[in-house]
Amino acid sequence: MLLGAIADDLTGATDLALMLARNGMKTVQYIGVPPEGTDFGDAEAVVVALKSRTIPADEAVALSLASARALLAGGTEQVIFKYCSTFDSTDAGNIGPVAEALLELLDAPIAIACSAFPAAGRSIYMGHLFVGQVLLSDSPMKDHPLTPMHDANLVRVLQRQAKGKVGLIPLSVIEQGADAVRAAVDAAQKSGHRLMIADAVRDQDLRVLGAALADARLITGGSGIAMGLPDNFRRQGRIGTTPLPSRMQAPKGRSVILAGSCSAATRGQVATAIAAGSPALRIVPLEVASGAQTAASIAEWVIANAGVRPPLIYSSDAPEAVKAVQEQLGRERAGTLVEHLLAEVSIMLRDAGFSRFIVAGGETSGAVVEALGTRALQIGPEIAPGVPWTRSIGAPDLALALKSGNFGAPDFFVTAWDMLDD
Ligand code: ADP
Repeated sequence: MLLGAIADDLTGATDLALMLARNGMKTVQYIGVPPEGTDFGDAEAVVVALKSRTIPADEAVALSLASARALLAGGTEQVIFKYCSTFDSTDAGNIGPVAEALLELLDAPIAIACSAFPAAGRSIYMGHLFVGQVLLSDSPMKDHPLTPMHDANLVRVLQRQAKGKVGLIPLSVIEQGADAVRAAVDAAQKSGHRLMIADAVRDQDLRVLGAALADARLITGGSGIAMGLPDNFRRQGRIGTTPLPSRMQAPKGRSVILAGSCSAATRGQVATAIAAGSPALRIVPLEVASGAQTAASIAEWVIANAGVRPPLIYSSDAPEAVKAVQEQLGRERAGTLVEHLLAEVSIMLRDAGFSRFIVAGGETSGAVVEALGTRALQIGPEIAPGVPWTRSIGAPDLALALKSGNFGAPDFFVTAWDMLDD
């Protein structure tokens, strides 16, 4: 293993794993801290998916350190700490504490923090994160239910979470190339900095950062920060150029689409799948709460409707409807009710011979994968930017497409399904 990564959520981990696989590394994803003595086989990169974005900081630190120890035991040379490209994190949040704990574990003096991902509209200039053309603090992230972002200045945001000094590597340095970046990092280290936000507005900036970080023990950021890292190993002749397949070799069995995300992108994808002829069943949280709609009745409907097109079950709804449900049931109860339901349905379908699952929603994917008993994933072909098909390693043998709510074009479900080979 050359690269070991720790991601603070499941679909973010898959996004990073795809980035590494697309850049030619044999990449495997683990769900949760790999148990002691895990044999990582011939994986060149391993991504550990935690669920640590919004848990208390001390718990996030403990899980991240345990993951890093497992990756170090597997021989990793560098550790990536991956968080969201929109830096989803409150002042009590975990990016600073986890990054500093990893610095200490790895005995590293300083690390870069760069969540930029220009292809997805996340760019950083003068330390300020832009989402598309607006500052993070003016983007929809200002209203995020768990991690509202009211300050676009990442140096300030990270400084409020960190004990050590946080600084900035501005674009003007990055434009001068990898040597200039290395010199700036050295100078920052000498002046007592521990974490450095790095500007990046184009893929080229991320590649320069990647080259500059060839010897860094710890690298932190979004999946974009990993773009330039595989090239370091390739230059040294240590990895090949394993291409990603374009088709998905899936285990035999039936397919189902489960959508538990209420994001605009997912709601559009649900509408497109229905228009394309997928039989669809809406999950109504209040009916689930009253017992009128049960996992057994939903699974039965899916089994009865499995045909040429995969059946779709979805709880996705418009913001006003979600708010009304949350007012009645409470935000958390509404969320866990739907997550548990979809998890239970997944188990029933797996036991009924379904082996291909397309899942929309970060938390939803976490709940479904945990219920299915999947511990590790092989990265397959790319369905959409940031979303690959994956195949479980070990039993049960499943094909899984796990999509963060906001990812993918309107025809995502159809595209994913069309990529499956028998
Ligand atoms: P995303 O990736 O879009 O954030 P997630 O799955 O992470 O999607 O989060 C969506 C949350 O909303 C989950 O906890 C899910 O159970 C909950 N949810 C889904 N549908 C509804 C609904 N109709 N009303 C209320 N909450 C819902």
